[in-house]
Amino acid sequence: MSRYLPIGFLLLQVLVLTLFGPAVTGPASYILTVSAPLLAAVAALWRGRLHETSVRSGWYALSLSLTIWAVGAFGNLWQEMVLHRQYEMYRSSMLAFNLAVVPTTFLLASDWRLHDRQLLRVVDALVALALGCTYFEYTWSMINDHSAPGEAGVAYLVWLLDFQNLYLAAGALVRWHVAADRDERDLFRALAVYLSVYFVIVFINDHCFAGNPAFGPEYGSVVTLAFAVLCSFALREPSTAPVRAVNPTLLRIVRSGSPVLLAVALLAASLFLIRVEYSLGCAGILIAVLGIGVRTTLIQVHQIEHREALSRKASALQAIAWTDALTGVSNRHFFTEALTRAWRDERRTGPQAILMIDIDHFKLLNDRYGHPVGDGCLREVARALQRALGRPDDVLARYGGEEFIVLLRDSPPAVAQVVAERLRATVQSLRIENAGSPERVVTITIGVASAALTDGAAAARMVEDADRALYEAKCAGRNQVRLTTDRPIEDVEAAASISARHRRLSA
Ligand code: GH3
Ligand code: MG
Ligand code: MG
Repeated sequence: MSRYLPIGFLLLQVLVLTLFGPAVTGPASYILTVSAPLLAAVAALWRGRLHETSVRSGWYALSLSLTIWAVGAFGNLWQEMVLHRQYEMYRSSMLAFNLAVVPTTFLLASDWRLHDRQLLRVVDALVALALGCTYFEYTWSMINDHSAPGEAGVAYLVWLLDFQNLYLAAGALVRWHVAADRDERDLFRALAVYLSVYFVIVFINDHCFAGNPAFGPEYGSVVTLAFAVLCSFALREPSTAPVRAVNPTLLRIVRSGSPVLLAVALLAASLFLIRVEYSLGCAGILIAVLGIGVRTTLIQVHQIEHREALSRKASALQAIAWTDALTGVSNRHFFTEALTRAWRDERRTGPQAILMIDIDHFKLLNDRYGHPVGDGCLREVARALQRALGRPDDVLARYGGEEFIVLLRDSPPAVAQVVAERLRATVQSLRIENAGSPERVVTITIGVASAALTDGAAAARMVEDADRALYEAKCAGRNQVRLTTDRPIEDVEAAASISARHRRLSA
């Protein structure tokens, strides 16, 4: 139904203009010129209330713009119908028409969807306001200079107005094109169609009707058709059609470039104004420069904060990625990294040691006391091992299941063996009950390997050696430390078991 609103409105105007004489068409056209933007303002307000998102504030800004326009039209009505002053330019009305452009300009130029950057929006709003005032002061000073401007002066003003209207319509078309979602697309489509129709009507009116004795001033009211178009778009059901993907680079350029264009427009308008109103022109330039400066600073501050927050999050995530969730010590992934760092570190030439640690008869503990108790035991053992290591360079990690691994920097075999013995004794001294095991408490067995880490292959070999030593210690009765020997494992069954363990652990 709302789709036919503009046609109905047009027919109404044609009827009024053709059927009645000037006594009726004059007042009727003034009343239409005030009521049409007001109706459109109410429609925009109504539409805004349908939306939860920032699109609501967009419709409200549009409604404000239409209301200010209606105030300007009412000023004309008052001057001409109440005060009976005819065919003049009224400062207050003209100011209102120029200020009406401010919310629209703000809507087009600012990234008004950014709720968290209110200050940025305030800066954009101030620049838009300054642009409206500068533009008004310039056009008004032109009229005042030639109190009844000559033909050339009027033509110049008309072209200026055309340029302004075209600039706004083009801006709205671009924003419609890069709209991020359906609601935003509806808003900018309404705005783009309205501003385009407005531009065309004002252009035709100023270039064909105005000043033509064949057409009275009441023909100017045909501009109300643009408001009817806007009304019709505002009253439509929100669209459900999917939004096509927009080139993200284009989107970014429009979003961040629009506010800069706003300041550039203010700068250009102020440069024009400075020729006729020096101090106001200077003020405009100052606001434009300050606007850009403050905007850039705010964005930089925001970006720095954002970067810092991101790096904090990245560190927190990395800590999680490198930590074993159950025991809180490092995980196998972290250990692999630490081992790589160790053999790549050229400053360290001394031998490095690896301790492969396995809890004895852990399955019996799990079976007898349950998995939660087993988990508690793993945590307690991990804490004790960490405490017993002492040196900040030493790396303890949970290697898998009930196995831990330690990297000792600059530790020859004898030192590594002493540290391993200390770890074994520490765990035994915890006296965690494991009634099924021969010792009746939780104990650990440790395989130790120590060598110069020259490359990745040497590191992998050392892990294998420590694992082999662990296996030998297990075979020799558990709860003990065994240093790796160069002796190959003769027991074929044992060798097969070690390689199976490796496959399992590296899976
Ligand atoms: P050994 O002395 O030869 O090392 O015998 P074991 O029982 O300690 O070794 P085995 O490999 O037979 O069993 C290890 C058990 O560890 C089996 C598995 O259920 C348990 N386990 C592995 N990861 C966890 C865990 O995260 N929590 C608990 N509670 N148990 C685990
Ligand atoms: Mg094991
Ligand atoms: Mg075990």
